[in-house]
Amino acid sequence: MVYLYIALAVVVLAIVLGAALVVPRRRSGRLQVPPPPPRIGGEAEGAASSVGTAVQVPPEAPVATEAPSAPAVPELDVPEPTAGRLLRLRARLARSQSSLGRGLLSVLSRDKLDDDAWDEVEEALLTADVGLGATTEIVDRLRTRTKVLGTRSQGELRALLAEELVAALQPDLDRTLHSTPTSDRPAVVMVVGVNGTGKTTTCGKLARVLVADGRTVLLGAADTFRAAAADQLATWGSRVGAETVRGPEGGDPASVAFDAVKQGTEREVDTVLIDTAGRLHTKVGLMDELGKVKRVVERQGPVDETLLVLDATTGQNGLTQARVFTEVVDVTGIVLTKLDGTAKGGIVISVQRELGVPVKLIGLGEGADDLAPFDPEQFVDALLG
Ligand code: GDP
Repeated sequence: MVYLYIALAVVVLAIVLGAALVVPRRRSGRLQVPPPPPRIGGEAEGAASSVGTAVQVPPEAPVATEAPSAPAVPELDVPEPTAGRLLRLRARLARSQSSLGRGLLSVLSRDKLDDDAWDEVEEALLTADVGLGATTEIVDRLRTRTKVLGTRSQGELRALLAEELVAALQPDLDRTLHSTPTSDRPAVVMVVGVNGTGKTTTCGKLARVLVADGRTVLLGAADTFRAAAADQLATWGSRVGAETVRGPEGGDPASVAFDAVKQGTEREVDTVLIDTAGRLHTKVGLMDELGKVKRVVERQGPVDETLLVLDATTGQNGLTQARVFTEVVDVTGIVLTKLDGTAKGGIVISVQRELGVPVKLIGLGEGADDLAPFDPEQFVDALLG
């Protein structure tokens, strides 16, 4: 009997000791669960702001007994410096190089430069979309100068041709991008053009150009007709830390543009870059819409730069479109895209002459940094190989 009591006492003691050890451990485990991190996002910033699509919402923190680690900050791209981009991308002009550069050089270096040879030179220039006016001028000047020049070495001919092509590209035009803020407001850059020309992609690449040049950028997705356009723009922006102001799908483009400039001013960014819609259904519709966007933006200050995006592969068609835009808004610069996919590099010459507006940037591929500031000497040098 005594043994029975002793055994019972041992069992009771064991139970009491076990409970005393387990309960505090459970409690301490519960105490170490960290609270979920605060949520960050566009909507949380208040109704007045529609910015924030580029900000990532971190996932809920897992229940863990270890100290919470800081939420991962998305790594930003460091865009390539803009100087030297055309040199890096010169090989992309290969198709224009063989049609224009090498083609012309081989005709010019013939022993006899007769009328047939000059017809061939003219043909090459016209095929490359140089345009009739510029072609006639270039051929006339080359004819005179090669006559005066007795010996015609390959080097001399190359230099001569380069000079004439550079002159046709009007090297004295001001190609600076007006993206410098004033003391009280950001610079405003509007990007216009027909859908499909590479307008939204160019806005994204341009944000990178500006960031590479040390500017802070806010994007305005005023192409509210294509939902994907705003997403596309926000994705480009988020890669370089530029936020995007966007409105509801189908909303008023002018109010998005206005909001972007307003927020850009409040946030003290250097440049506000506005992507616009480019449906060319009816000229009147486009005029109304673009004109309104511009007018509404100008309530807060002037638009510093209006860039027209043109697809180099569309040739004369592109020029017709371009004229419509220049009638509606005061275009201050041209961006020629897709020069990598065409043998018609001479379009740079005809676009400038026809529109009287400088080509400021050229698109030479689909890569993020395949947009280069245009430089006549470097361009011709790449064409002539
Ligand atoms: P949007 O409708 O005018 O806004 O046109 P997007 O920006 O959506 O571009 C249309 C297509 O053109 C996309 O596939 C782009 O990658 C392409 N694109 C834009 N610029 C260039 C360029 O310089 N070279 C090449 N090869 N493709 C380009």
